[in-house]
Amino acid sequence: MSISERYSRQVRFSGIGEEGQKKISQARVAVIGMGALGTVIANNLVRSGVGYIRLVDRDFIEISNLQRQVLYDENDIKQGLPKAIAAAQHLKKVNSDVIIDSVVVDVNAGNISKLIKDVDLVMDGSDNFEVRFLINDASIKHSVPWIYGGALGSYGMTMNIIPGKTPCFRCLIDKMPTAGAHDTCSTAGVINMITGIVANYQSVEALKILINSLTIRQEVLFIDIWNNTIETFKINKNGECKACVDKEFEFLSRKFSSYASSLCGQNSIQIVPAIEGKLDFKTFYDKLKKVGDVTFNKFFLSFKKGEIEFTLFSDGRAIIKNVTEEKAARAIYSEYIGM
Ligand SMILES: [Zn+2]
Repeated sequence: MSISERYSRQVRFSGIGEEGQKKISQARVAVIGMGALGTVIANNLVRSGVGYIRLVDRDFIEISNLQRQVLYDENDIKQGLPKAIAAAQHLKKVNSDVIIDSVVVDVNAGNISKLIKDVDLVMDGSDNFEVRFLINDASIKHSVPWIYGGALGSYGMTMNIIPGKTPCFRCLIDKMPTAGAHDTCSTAGVINMITGIVANYQSVEALKILINSLTIRQEVLFIDIWNNTIETFKINKNGECKACVDKEFEFLSRKFSSYASSLCGQNSIQIVPAIEGKLDFKTFYDKLKKVGDVTFNKFFLSFKKGEIEFTLFSDGRAIIKNVTEEKAARAIYSEYIGM
C-alpha cells in the first residue's frame, strides 16, 4: 500500500502538507483511557498516520459502553477483551503501518511517568480528576504536552496544556473535587455526540501540536450541544500554582500507597495494591476453586461466591462487585486475594 496514497487527502490540506505528514508519521502519542473520548481519538490518530500510539486502559468492555465507545462491538464483549486490547486489534486492521501498543493497567502515581515520558503528546481519555491531576503532574515533570478533554450530559470541555508555554490543568482547577461533588456519566448520563465532538477537537489540536502549527488553540473550549452554546475562554497562569509554578507534584508523589476508588456506574470498588506484581492466575484459580466459582483467561480472573464477586487483573488490581464501602471491598480483597 502506498503511503502517499493513504494520506493523500490529508497531505493536500495546506495546514498539514508533506512536511506536516512527515512529523505526524514520526510522532509518538499515549492515549490514557480508552472510553468514549479515547476510542475516537485513537481512531483519528491511527488513521492520520501517527508513528506510534500507546493505548492505556484498565477496564474490559461492557454493554453500556457500546453507545459511545466507537471501537468496540458485541463480539469483543463475548470474548471478554480488555478495552486496550480490543481497540488495538481493531485499529491494526485499519492501519498496519502504525505501531500500536496496548497497556492494560490502572494509571496511578507509580506508573504514570513510565507511561508518558517517552511520548511526544498525551491524550486525556480518562473519566476522572485523579488521573487528570496525575497526567498534569507527570506532563510538567517530563515536559510532555497533554490535551485535557471531558464530557458529561450534553456538554464538554477541552484544553491544551503545553509545559512552559500554557497554563496547566491545576491553573484551571486547583483542587480535586471531593467524592460525590461532581456528577458522573452514570448519574447525569452522556450523549455520544458530545463525546465525539470533544474527542475530535482534542484530535485536531493533537495534529497541530505534533506539527508545531501556529494555530494551536490557546483558550479553554466549552460546548453544550443541547443548549446551543459554544464558547472559548482564556485562563491565566496561576502565580501560585503548585504544579506548573512550584513544581510540587502532589499527585505524583503519592507513590506506592494502595488505594481504592469507586467505579462509574457500578456498585463496585477497585482496589489497587501498594506494589504492582505479576500474578499467576493458575495459582489463584487452584486456591479459589475450593471456595467458589472461578474462571480465568489471559487477561483476568473472575470469582463468585453468592454476593461476593470480583475480577482480578494480573497486576494485582481487583474490582470488587456488589459493595459500596471501601472497608467491605478491602476485607474481601484481603480475604480472597490476600496481599
Ligand atoms: Zn499551573
